Amino acid sequence: MGSNDTSAPSNFIRQIIDQDLAAGKNGGRVATRFPPEPNGYLHIGHAKSICLNFGIARDYNGTCNLRFDDTNPHKENIEFVESIKNDVRWLGFSWGDKVYYASDYFEQLYQFAVELIEKGLAYVCDLSAEETRAYRGTLTQPGKDSPYRNRSVAENLDLFRRMRAGEFPDGARVLRAKIDMASPNINLRDPTLYRIRHGVIHHQTGAEWCIYPMYDYTHPISDALEGITHSLCTLEFEDHRPLYDWVLDNITIPCHPQQIEFSRLNLQYTVMSKRKLTQLVDEGFVEGWDDPRMPTIAGMRRRGYTPAAVRDFCDRIGISKSDNTVEMSLLENCVREDLNVHAPRRMAVLRPLKVVIENYPEDQVEMLDCANHPQDDSMGSRQLPFCREVYIDAEDFREVPPPKYKRLVPGGEVRLRNAYVIRCEQVIKNAQGEVIELRCSYDPATLGVNPEGRKIKGVIHWVSARHAVAAEVRLYDRLFSVPNPDAAAAKEGKDYKDFLNADSLRTLTRCYLEPVLAEARPGDTFQFEREGYFCLDAQRAADGTAIWNRTVTLRDSWAKIEQQGD
Ligand code: ATP
Ligand code: MG
Repeated sequence: MGSNDTSAPSNFIRQIIDQDLAAGKNGGRVATRFPPEPNGYLHIGHAKSICLNFGIARDYNGTCNLRFDDTNPHKENIEFVESIKNDVRWLGFSWGDKVYYASDYFEQLYQFAVELIEKGLAYVCDLSAEETRAYRGTLTQPGKDSPYRNRSVAENLDLFRRMRAGEFPDGARVLRAKIDMASPNINLRDPTLYRIRHGVIHHQTGAEWCIYPMYDYTHPISDALEGITHSLCTLEFEDHRPLYDWVLDNITIPCHPQQIEFSRLNLQYTVMSKRKLTQLVDEGFVEGWDDPRMPTIAGMRRRGYTPAAVRDFCDRIGISKSDNTVEMSLLENCVREDLNVHAPRRMAVLRPLKVVIENYPEDQVEMLDCANHPQDDSMGSRQLPFCREVYIDAEDFREVPPPKYKRLVPGGEVRLRNAYVIRCEQVIKNAQGEVIELRCSYDPATLGVNPEGRKIKGVIHWVSARHAVAAEVRLYDRLFSVPNPDAAAAKEGKDYKDFLNADSLRTLTRCYLEPVLAEARPGDTFQFEREGYFCLDAQRAADGTAIWNRTVTLRDSWAKIEQQGD
């Protein structure tokens, strides 16, 4: 851990910042930014970048700008802008009073392009996209100069102005940097700075522009205009750094941020490319961007993951330059650890089997006081009604028990958690021979105490059949059936979608919850004892039944429950 409880662990980027501060660089300032393109929802990989950038600002008394990198208007929209703001806020970070947009700088970017033209460092090129590709060369072969490379400054200025004025159709011309067509770094072979795009309504600038700057040109200038000190990005931009520096070295701007690359997060059993996530949404493989199976922040939130758990995960995976794929269980463990401490306990029966307690008075109802958390008294208690008919889970009864089975069997005893010990007297079956009801007796002397000389090993959960609330419960499994869908697809010559897990969602429509859960609000998360952690969805089923999403399973649930019963 860092110097205090709330700061994140150190890493090579923080070490660079420490050195910069020690050397008195940037006047002691630390300024970062998180620059999403609003062309999709944020995912867990973005959470890593958010925690890094905002975490550094927090721990160094610096600033972190939220900046929309909005230079591709045909793929972007305001829904994505709003979802991104929402997700960053939800993760627990704030960006001050201003949201930044690269599009705020379109006029300045244009003027800097004019400066490059005037210096003979940019030119208007009329090659088609295909010709441009052919002229670019390959990793092993140098490129060839464009025949338009030596246009005069005056002609370039005139053409660029007319590009802006809308005189040329899409694709007719681009503005390119004049760097070096023989550079071993392909990014420096006269990269495109501006392209023409008619007929798109930009979510911020409307129809004002028909030329749009490229990312590699826009990004360094946006960083510099905002006085960013450390521009943190993922490793695939390492080869773009010379271009980042070239742009800033060749325009008149007083600030030159340092670009530092780190490795992106890859997570098992999912995909993280926005193109693929968009495809899963658009083609209906999931219910939407916030489907609880998606690796999106919106999906994790809907599933019941907490911001603290996601931040903890990001701290634990750390920041480095080596590519790696993180196990899903690490993320799930962070969620479990957080919810174990914070989620109140409740009882819910997911596969109901009716139990009639024959010696319990027909019209009697007892209100039992039950702690909301076994280790934390400050979470208080709630009242649980007990009566003659209860539901238990069908899995908690076996006519023919497997070895070491400690739950209910014909003639056997079990403790109903927080209540009495019952004995199974009779098993009632339907015409198909399926168990549909149990007739039991209870021992009134066993409320909260074990009977002398009888060791009751099993403890099971239950709800009052007269008081329970009905619910639909959704159990989620991994979205893909293999740890690395992209690698599997490449290896077998298939599509990554061929590896979607057909059983990633299982819906249980007839579940019963203890009555206080009727008052839960969407987003509330509870531990359903012995079943896992569950979060109330904002949507309801068509008939109005509440929907509960399983956030994560319990580990070791058996061991814990059995101890409590002794
Ligand atoms: P695109 O393919 O649309 O560019 P992207 O995942 O790079 O997708 P951006 O919106 O450009 O999405 O990302 C915003 C920031 O989040 C960038 O700084 C990017 O480096 C970072 N980021 C994106 N994916 C990951 C990831 N898997 N791990 C860590 N950081 C990431
Ligand atoms: Mg990107």
